[in-house]
Amino acid sequence: MKWVTMTKTPYIKLVECYEKIASTSARLEKRDIIADFLKEIKENDPEITYDIALLLQGKIFPPWSEKEMGISTQLIIKALSKLLGENTKDIENKLASVGDMGEITEELVANNKQVTFFKVPLTVSKVISNLRKTEEITGSKSQNKKLNYILELYTSAEPIEAKYITRTITEKLRIGVGEGTLVEAIAKAYDMDKEVIDRAYMLSNDLGEVALRAQESIESVKSLTINPGKPIKPMLAQLSPGIKESIEEMGEVICETKYDGIRVQIHHFDGQTKIFTRRLENVTKALPEIVEYIENAINNVDFIVEGEVIAIKDNKPVSFQYILQRVKRKYDIEKMMDEVPLKVFLFDVLYYENPVAEDSLINRRKLLEDIVTVSDDVELSTMKVITPDNYEEAEELFNWSIETGHEGIMFKDVNSPYSPGKRGKNMLKYKPIRETLDCVITGGIYGKGKRAKFFGSYLLSLLDEKTGEYKTLVHAATGMDDEMLATMTERMQEHIISTSEQTVVFKPAVILEVAFSEIVESNEYESGYSLRFPAIKRVRDDIGLDQVDTLEKLNQLLELQNN
Ligand code: AMP
Repeated sequence: MKWVTMTKTPYIKLVECYEKIASTSARLEKRDIIADFLKEIKENDPEITYDIALLLQGKIFPPWSEKEMGISTQLIIKALSKLLGENTKDIENKLASVGDMGEITEELVANNKQVTFFKVPLTVSKVISNLRKTEEITGSKSQNKKLNYILELYTSAEPIEAKYITRTITEKLRIGVGEGTLVEAIAKAYDMDKEVIDRAYMLSNDLGEVALRAQESIESVKSLTINPGKPIKPMLAQLSPGIKESIEEMGEVICETKYDGIRVQIHHFDGQTKIFTRRLENVTKALPEIVEYIENAINNVDFIVEGEVIAIKDNKPVSFQYILQRVKRKYDIEKMMDEVPLKVFLFDVLYYENPVAEDSLINRRKLLEDIVTVSDDVELSTMKVITPDNYEEAEELFNWSIETGHEGIMFKDVNSPYSPGKRGKNMLKYKPIRETLDCVITGGIYGKGKRAKFFGSYLLSLLDEKTGEYKTLVHAATGMDDEMLATMTERMQEHIISTSEQTVVFKPAVILEVAFSEIVESNEYESGYSLRFPAIKRVRDDIGLDQVDTLEKLNQLLELQNN
């Protein structure tokens, strides 16, 4: 379908697409709506495909970019109050009750009684260019200048457009589209395999570029690759259930020390070095000595290496908190450098004069060994190639790693390419340090077979400190020996509220300490989370019901876990 006489795509077209996507919860339908829209763009206004692909993600810059709009909700409120002559306090109150600044914007603009003479239909290009301009503004009166750019957009926007302008600024589109759906939509729109699009996205970290090239040709997409200067999402690790098990499943692995610091992706290009965290924040300024160490250790060619920066004191690694302080530091960096000396352990190379991210891990490791001159400041991770036949050596490495103050070990498939952003089976982590939570028993399930007369598994809950209620978190069965099974079953009888078939509801009374490896999201439990590999450690008769661990504590642990 041609959009007659329109040389520039009106913003309302994109907004209609957002609304259509939001109106269905079916993922495939969402994919098809986006694919159709991309096809229309290709036909009518192919030059804006890059921008469209970003805007469909609710972004105006690609994820690799360090650029940020820097517009606070407060500034949006100010702009709206200026446009409508509303009191900022009133808008703030609305925000407190509605919660979605986008909806409030739509409502305010719809009720706008002021006549404006400057209303011109918005185009996609106008919206994105005004928003991008806000990034460039620095210095005095910068807030005012930013405000003018967004005010100009709100002045011309239809209410529904204003809603999505706000949502783009706040980076919360709320149309229920994830990266996976966008990747599939691009593949469908340009009739290509999803794997081709996925690969290009992983390596470029730029869906705009991927869509633009897919619009051109398959060759163009396939030639997209990793580039020094553009950070990519780090490859992530799954939890290993145990050393022997993991090695047997994976076959030949590189087993290496897991360091407790921060992960860094170090890019060297055009003679300059940049350091990015796993969230792709540029922390080069905070870590000047790492820049120096790396430039001394590797030739001055374009490269990307990855490793873990750790803090060292008296020749021993110090807790992760120290290094966090260093990375967050904006001032007195020199002073901190003396207080907390750092070193880096490199474990991967993704680019060295050429892209190597898709080579096998074993070859990348060999390359790393060739290109790095190790010193006290830059080392390579301690590693060993292990097969199921010599898995005991992995146990030795694990023990050595723990004794020397590190966090655990990693298992990495020797044949695997680097898969940016993926938490797959090619890389596992194994840590001995298990967190514990004190949970109250709120339910139980009778065991099977020999254990049929005992509660074989307990439903454990945490305290919701806001409501005073207990919210379910996990079923825990492991950790109880025969004696504990019997004594606990007897003890729990007096707390039974109701029984149905195999399950029992208990009055909150008895507290168990449970150890676990990881907190994961879950629809199954009221807390919204659950625990992986839970193991009951002991009954906590020494604390009262008011000391049961809270959802807040769970959130704190979750934050630590995700760091
Ligand atoms: P996760 O972040 O949960 O996927 O766990 C893996 C994390 O362990 C990475 O993000 C790194 O920060 C860290 N790490 C420490 N040592 C290594 C290593 N040798 N190889 C890979 N990751 C490592």
